[in-house]
Amino acid sequence: HVLTHWVPLVDNGELQGVVAVFHDITDLTRLENIRRDFVANVSHELRTPVTVIKGYAEALIDGAMETDPERARKFVGIILSHSERLAALIGDLLTLSQLEAGSMNLEKTTVRPEQVAKRAMELLQPKAARKGITIDCSGLSGAQSVLADPGRLEQVLVNLLDNAIKYTPEGGAISFSAAVKENMVRIGVKDTGVGIPPKDLPRIFERFYRVDTARSRDEGGTGLGLSIVKHIVQLHGGAVGVESEPGKGSEFWFTIKKA
Ligand code: ADP
Repeated sequence: HVLTHWVPLVDNGELQGVVAVFHDITDLTRLENIRRDFVANVSHELRTPVTVIKGYAEALIDGAMETDPERARKFVGIILSHSERLAALIGDLLTLSQLEAGSMNLEKTTVRPEQVAKRAMELLQPKAARKGITIDCSGLSGAQSVLADPGRLEQVLVNLLDNAIKYTPEGGAISFSAAVKENMVRIGVKDTGVGIPPKDLPRIFERFYRVDTARSRDEGGTGLGLSIVKHIVQLHGGAVGVESEPGKGSEFWFTIKKA
C-alpha cells in the first residue's frame, strides 16, 4: 500500500512545481486492520451474552415467572452463567488493555514456582475434580526460584491450567514440570487433552483465536487467555511456546528468569 502526497514547491510566493512524496503505509494499514478486527471481535463477543440475557429476561417478564417456576429457575441460571461470561470477558479485556498500554507495573520478587502452582491448583482443583482429571505438581517440588511478579505469574499458571482442564476429556491427567536452561527456568503444563492441529499452532496465542469456537464458549472461554499469558511472560523477559499432538495432548511452556 502506497500513499501519495503532492507537495507544492513555492519560491517567493510563486509556484515552481510539485513534488510527489510516496509513503509506504503497508504497516499502518496492517495495524489499522488489526485494530478494526479487534473492535469487531470484541463487539461480537460482548453482544452474544447480552442477547441471551435479554432474551431470557424477556421470557421471564412475559410470564414464565408465574406460569412455570421450574422453567423460570432454569432461565435465571442461564442469565447468571452468561453474566459470568460477560464479567470474565470484561476482566480479560481490561487486563489485556493494561498489558498493551504498558501500564501494568510488575512487582518482581523471588518466587517459588511450586508455591504459585499450588495457589493456582487450589482455585481450579474443584473444576478438575468434576471431570475426574488429576493434577500432578510434583515436577515443581524443589524447582529453581524465579524472579517474577507473584500475582501475574499466578495468572499465567491459572490460565494455562484452566485451559488444560477445559480441553482435556474426563479422566485425563495434567502435570507440571520445571527445567533450568542457562539463566532461565522453563515451566511446562502438560495435558492428555484434545490437542491442537498443526495448522492452528502458529496462531494460538493471538487474541480471540480459537480452534473450536463453540467448544471454547461452552467451556466459558473468552479467547483471550493465551494472549494474556504471552503478554505477561514477555513483560517478564521470557518466551512462550506449545507442543501438541491432536488426540494425544498438549504441553504449553514458558520461560522466566532465574532468581
Ligand atoms: P479460550 O478462552 O478459548 O480457551 P485461550 O486464548 O486461552 O482462549 O486459548 C485459545 C485456544 O487455544 C482455545 O480456544 C483452544 O482452541 C486452544 N487451546 C488452548 N489451550 C489448549 C489445550 N491445553 N489443549 C487444547 N487446545 C487448547
